[in-house]
Amino acid sequence: MNIAARDTKPDTTGLDLDGFARGLFIAGQWREGRGSRIPVVDPSSEAVIAHIANADVADAAAAVDAAAAAAPGWAATAPRKRSEILRRCFELMTERAEMLAKLISLENGKALRDARGEVAYAAEFFRWNAEEAVRIVGDFARAPAGANHIVVGYEPIGICVLITPWNFPAAMATRKIAPALAAGCTVVLKPATETPLTAYALAALYREAGVPDGVVNVITTSTPGPVTSAMLADPRVRKLSFTGSTGVGRTLLAEASKSVISCSMELGGNAPLIVFDDADLDTAIEGAMVAKMRNAGEACTAANRLYVQSGIYEKFVAALTKRMEALAVGAGTDQATECGPMITAKAVAKIERLVDDAVTRGAKVKCGGKKPSGSGFFYPPTVLTDVPADAEMAGEEIFGPVAPISRFDSEDEVVARANDTEYGLAAYVFTGDLARGLRISRRIEAGMIALNRGLVSDPAAPFGGVKQSGLGREGGSHGVLEFCEPKYVAVTL
Ligand code: NAD
Repeated sequence: MNIAARDTKPDTTGLDLDGFARGLFIAGQWREGRGSRIPVVDPSSEAVIAHIANADVADAAAAVDAAAAAAPGWAATAPRKRSEILRRCFELMTERAEMLAKLISLENGKALRDARGEVAYAAEFFRWNAEEAVRIVGDFARAPAGANHIVVGYEPIGICVLITPWNFPAAMATRKIAPALAAGCTVVLKPATETPLTAYALAALYREAGVPDGVVNVITTSTPGPVTSAMLADPRVRKLSFTGSTGVGRTLLAEASKSVISCSMELGGNAPLIVFDDADLDTAIEGAMVAKMRNAGEACTAANRLYVQSGIYEKFVAALTKRMEALAVGAGTDQATECGPMITAKAVAKIERLVDDAVTRGAKVKCGGKKPSGSGFFYPPTVLTDVPADAEMAGEEIFGPVAPISRFDSEDEVVARANDTEYGLAAYVFTGDLARGLRISRRIEAGMIALNRGLVSDPAAPFGGVKQSGLGREGGSHGVLEFCEPKYVAVTL
């Protein structure tokens, strides 16, 4: 591990931290919350960088009131006008990409190069949905019996509560806000308290782009359970779109069932990455580095289990270990950093527990495997081999820079092992045989398969999982429909 950059101070050049809002954003105004302010910590140094407002149930009700007041006007706004405002959000995000990337690096800890990639990805949801806003078309058909005609139009589903995690502070929010606004809905966003500054910086940017007051409201809270329950119990709220862990997702599905609210759920993953003997080694290593190390492993799509066929196993392990131990670990805001810190001390403790468990059960450490001393929530890039199937990390999200590798022999064996999980978000397959790649892709129980590449996310494609990885899709032409309600009119002509 190269930890040279680890003790340097965060580089906040060009970031006016005092200029960022920390209040609740309701009806276009910045407001104090009723709760006591929440500290935001730089995970690279453990220093407190801001204190943000803390909403209680009454503040949440005010946010829903604002979304309700803005709803009729926004739904009635011409799709072309909505489209132009969304396009302006894309342009402003692109113009300010470097500032936003630095802010993400500072509060989330991810390496600047990952943060830049996130800003580009996040902005693209506005461009894509600006194009979708004017293409939400209905159907007109003659009923099969011939007696009447069927007219179907798509209406905004209503007020949406959006809840997002800390691992992509910009993209997880824009992946929901952009399609919701394209569909004509108004929203209340509740970002994670670990990374609220990005959400608030973007709220100010939306306003500047012409998003009317009350269309997007943003609240942070230290009591997400009661605050969310209160919003879901409000009969004006018709949609919950959640990205986060499967555990919290299950709780929210139960909560939403009380008011029978439409739910989109982007939940946890446990992605297998499979390398066959006939794969191109360089392509597989490059892909594995992206699939494992983007965001230092803190991604729902991160490769969590690496299965490598016996014939290529030794070469793959040697090449991956070489790449992993050469990574520069340091503060996210440092230009040289390739692997930033984890989000919290708790996240590091979880990784330590999972690595210790695997080693106790027989896994071998090729590099890393030991938490460094000093400040910051760091864990080194780690490669483990011979990881047994009963290791806890085979069934749980590691959410860190640990690559657990095990060997397989046959296609049937690896498919069975890949599917032996409650999750089904993403999977990665490397092979020189396209027919085999497509065959395996069909057999793997996951919503998304990357074939001979390490990146699957694309704003123009449907992102989402099967099994306990979620319900619904974000992005592509599917994303906007999650925020629409089809309305059918039967008519005799
Ligand atoms: P989390 O579930 O702990 O928190 C997610 C959000 O839910 C946060 O805003 C949090 O404040 C809020 N929350 C927590 N408890 C709540 C409650 N009782 N009621 C309402 N809201 C509540 O997840 P996290 O640790 O922030 O994020 C990591 C998880 O997110 C991982 O499991 C990861 O796989 C998943 N994730 C999934 C996707 C996807 O697209 N499928 C994308 C990114 C992250």
